[in-house]
Amino acid sequence: MGHTILASLAIWLFLAASADSISKRAALDDCLKTASVPTLASGSSDYTQSLKPFNLRVTFKPAAYAVPTTVKHVQDAVACGAATSVQVTAKSGGHSYASHGLGGEDGHLIVDMRNFASVTVDQTAQTAVIGTGGRLGDVATALYSQGKQAISHGTCPGVGVGGLSLHGGYGLISRSKGLTLDNILSADVVLANSTLVTASPTQNAELFWALRGAGAAFGIVTNFKFKTFTAPENNIVFNYFFSPSSATQLATALTALQDFTRNSQPPELNMRLFLSGFTTFSGVYYGSRADYDRIMNPLLQKMGISSGSVSTNSWLNTLTSFSNGALQQAKPYDTHETFFAKSLMPEYLSPAAITALSNYWNANARSNSRSWYLLFDCHGGKNSAISNVSADATAYVHRNATFKMQFYDRVSSGSYNTAWFPFLNGWIKAITDASPDVNYGMYINYADTSLTKDEAHSHYWLGNYEKLAALKAIWDPKKVFEGPQLVGS
Ligand SMILES: Cc1cc2nc3c(=O)[nH]c(=O)nc-3n(C[C@H](O)[C@H](O)[C@H](O)COP(=O)(O)OP(=O)(O)OC[C@H]3O[C@@H](n4cnc5c(N)ncnc54)[C@H](O)[C@@H]3O)c2cc1C
Repeated sequence: MGHTILASLAIWLFLAASADSISKRAALDDCLKTASVPTLASGSSDYTQSLKPFNLRVTFKPAAYAVPTTVKHVQDAVACGAATSVQVTAKSGGHSYASHGLGGEDGHLIVDMRNFASVTVDQTAQTAVIGTGGRLGDVATALYSQGKQAISHGTCPGVGVGGLSLHGGYGLISRSKGLTLDNILSADVVLANSTLVTASPTQNAELFWALRGAGAAFGIVTNFKFKTFTAPENNIVFNYFFSPSSATQLATALTALQDFTRNSQPPELNMRLFLSGFTTFSGVYYGSRADYDRIMNPLLQKMGISSGSVSTNSWLNTLTSFSNGALQQAKPYDTHETFFAKSLMPEYLSPAAITALSNYWNANARSNSRSWYLLFDCHGGKNSAISNVSADATAYVHRNATFKMQFYDRVSSGSYNTAWFPFLNGWIKAITDASPDVNYGMYINYADTSLTKDEAHSHYWLGNYEKLAALKAIWDPKKVFEGPQLVGS
């Protein structure tokens, strides 16, 4: 009898919730229509395509999908979401590993910024106003075509400017020029109350602080003004092959690399170790070949690396060397993978952590036939432009991380089986258990779906989280911009 009542109550609650969500959606649709905000019709081919995230493992169904063409549309969309209690999510390139650009859960109003993709350079001032809906390859090409200008950004040309810049933005010139977010001069933002403001060091400075590392929770940025630089030419691009034959050999190479990155790596040198079935050590040196040889040869020797290629490239060819294809992106964008990923941002890997990492690789990764990798980006150290900014200067907190480590496990076809999660979770656990006193940071731009919201807050923002939560209560008290791992969730 008791069970029957409980079952009836559960069904009633379910029906009430469904009815509530249907009526919210109807109210949202009405509001968007009345305000003439362009939307994609559910079931249309554009809608179906737009709901395909970069990571096909993580899909969501929104309440509505807006494609504004004016700032007023963005403001009206935010007002409609707030009025109908439907959470609002900006989408730029759709490359979030956890599909945060689709809300990270069902039922959001998506505001797709694809129509905000213009790039306008002021060559005299060396600044550029860039729409947040642009993709990196298109943006790099447009910057270069206007006086050979450039900004520091990530390597994948399909990634969106919006998500990358608001949460970090590391690429193969970041040790020299800083992260993408370090080069933002100002941002135009539609707030939760649907007003448009500018955030900069002199206007709404605390909002500007929060946007640079935790932006998704604070508003919809329509465009950024960036500081640009003249693109360097004649860059030394290198790519070596590395085949460690034992855990000890890998540990020796990692120890040498970490020591070099922390203490000796010059700011002109940007590089990464890509450990997988086919391991490479690659990067770019912005200087002369003679200096490159002098700096790199001792390191290569210590790491046990002897074969590879070194070439001299123009700026656009340098970007293309790391982009897995052309810089300019097809429309509609239709490149996807199916994967689970995690990250670590260690200030320092202790000898015990390096041993644990290498032993796990030897025992579990080498025999794994899926297409996994562990990427070590040489992010910090005493000569890194990233580390020369203090951890509380922007919401991005990982200034002292020597390596930016990305753990990635993917399938080339079919679905990713949840039974495979322990492979990467176990690798992280082996490393962190070996140094239990360290609170390892993680990078929200490599969003990890297996983190609880509390774990996400503490690992993504470490000591900056408390201030971010307080600012969230000021700038978005009704939590219009929500997501399972965002600040304030
Ligand atoms: C293949 C690949 C390669 C990558 N390479 C690099 C790399 O080299 N370096 C690096 O640092 N990262 C890299 N990343 C990670 C990438 O930076 C993040 O996934 C980033 O968040 C993607 O931004 P997006 O706009 O494409 O994604 P989206 O999914 O559209 O957005 C990501 C987050 O940003 C928010 N957001 C987007 N636009 C706005 C806006 N206008 N206003 C407010 N919030 C917004 C979204 O709501 C969401 O929370 C890579 C990712 C992939 C898939």
